[in-house]
Amino acid sequence: MTMPLMRPERKNPVRRTRQMNLPPWGRSRVALGLTAAAAEGRFELQVCDDCGAVQYPPREACHRCVSPRLTWRAQPGLGRLLATTTLHHSNDLFFRERLPWTLGLVHLDAGPTLMVHLHGDVGASARRSRGPGTAALRVRVGARLDRAGQAVLIGFPDEETANMADDKMLREMTSDPRFRKVLVTDGMSAVGQAVVRELVTAGADIVWVGHAEQWKRHGSGIDDIAALAPVTLVPLDLSDARSVAELAGEIGAKVDIVINNAEVHRTFGIAARRGTDVARAEMDINYFGLLRLAQELGPALKGRSADGVTSACAWVNLLSIYALANFPPHGTFSASKSAAHSLSQCLRAEMRPAGIRVINLFPGPIDDEWNQNMPPPKVAPVALAAAIVKALRDGVEDVYPGDVAQEWLERWRDNPKVLERELAAGGLG
Ligand SMILES: [Zn+2]
Repeated sequence: MTMPLMRPERKNPVRRTRQMNLPPWGRSRVALGLTAAAAEGRFELQVCDDCGAVQYPPREACHRCVSPRLTWRAQPGLGRLLATTTLHHSNDLFFRERLPWTLGLVHLDAGPTLMVHLHGDVGASARRSRGPGTAALRVRVGARLDRAGQAVLIGFPDEETANMADDKMLREMTSDPRFRKVLVTDGMSAVGQAVVRELVTAGADIVWVGHAEQWKRHGSGIDDIAALAPVTLVPLDLSDARSVAELAGEIGAKVDIVINNAEVHRTFGIAARRGTDVARAEMDINYFGLLRLAQELGPALKGRSADGVTSACAWVNLLSIYALANFPPHGTFSASKSAAHSLSQCLRAEMRPAGIRVINLFPGPIDDEWNQNMPPPKVAPVALAAAIVKALRDGVEDVYPGDVAQEWLERWRDNPKVLERELAAGGLG
């Protein structure tokens, strides 16, 4: 059984913070298929369209019949553990700092045999006794992104065990908020408040909650949030460079996870409104707000990404499924989210060398005041908050919460041009 994670000791401010060394990250183009699936929380392997063989490692052609017709398909990942080995030495800097490290060889029921990082609960008792029973152990293989953002395979016990998420190796792959210090940029919205509650339940150490407009505070529900023990309200206006810089100066050296949920959302296309003021306000928070925040807080996060079990680890952006394709009734909002999406890809590339994960959420319409006229299904703020914490725990990169987002994503992948036409005609359905 995994020992539950204990609250880490206070850091000695005089000691140097360890530098991040990334695990090996080179992959061939074809192997990135594994990473693309893992980024959304799936374990996929290539399956041959001609002979049905499942193969690993990824290749250009089927290892059995040499057909080039290979499709990535989700795998149950069940298999048998053939052997284990524990490294006490490594020439790789990332692993050298994290030894001992246990690996396993797994024969999947689907065919291939593969090398996995082994969760500490896999046959822990059998391994301790060094008995002959190890070979018969059942394991479930899953894919996760490592600190370099590349897919790696992990062997889990085939049944849930206590404190599984606290496993030392697994915590290197994920961004569990437990005992971490989190900034939520907007606590005035229903989504922001739901996120804060979810983080407190998940065991976050401190949750700083930004609020831009003091005078609107009454009746917003933010006072209920402020009463929670780990919560500290901080003034933060993403449209004001000085406000962002001041906050970064105050808490930048302590934040482990940034959740940027601040957004301006008005329901207009182009012709329904004169002038650019509203579109500018959307851009100022949704796009420039992210830029200001990333410029001020990004460097501080990158400097502490190897800082023990509660290292800085993740940056979460609340985007929108409208970022993929413009939804004309919310035309200018869609454009601002599309800009933010593009910028978040830049942020992801710049954060990757430090091992900080950038997580993007693409929800469908959220059940809030700006979507009052939208028919259901809509994503409830609590469901969105749960999706954010789950994404942190699972270590994924892209999340599409809700039925609308899922369907829209499917259609966008299938054919973006067809989706554009469907949206121009008034939406899905
Ligand atoms: Zn084949």
